Amino acid sequence: MREFSSKRSVDEALIAIVENDSCSVDAIQVVTGCTFGKGNLIFKDYGKHVYTFINRETRDALRISLNSSVNLEHMDPTWSRLRRKVTSGSATSVEQQDFRKRADIIAEKLMNMSEEDLFTVTHIDIADVPKKAQIFRSVTCQKCGELVSEHRVRLENGEKVCIPCSAG
Ligand SMILES: [Zn+2]
Repeated sequence: MREFSSKRSVDEALIAIVENDSCSVDAIQVVTGCTFGKGNLIFKDYGKHVYTFINRETRDALRISLNSSVNLEHMDPTWSRLRRKVTSGSATSVEQQDFRKRADIIAEKLMNMSEEDLFTVTHIDIADVPKKAQIFRSVTCQKCGELVSEHRVRLENGEKVCIPCSAG
């Protein structure tokens, strides 16, 4: 990432492709300036901790993948069990305290790991560099009457409908 951000002349020259929608993507937006609004943050719903950064000018692409050894559930199974209780709201205050303490310890461990232990970083070839943000026309869904971007419209019995209104 460091080698990449130094090359960053214009924000829009950098594209981030993220393969999950977890809070890690918040960090990527803050650190890289790639956002949905600028059209340089691309979400692929693969549920993987994989992040690809493309420099549009040099066409250089870095693929960063979290190593499978960095599995928090394995690092501390008790933390993992407590997390489920905390998330579901069934944790006692003692369990909540224990959860936070364990989270701090895990965070400390992660911060002390080397980049190599955390991630596998590879330079890859990107055949098609994603195009700059496009502006799409809006059309009115003929079922719900709400505006929908033209490139997401489905045709159903000759009617233009939005995805939630379409039969699937
Ligand atoms: Zn609709």
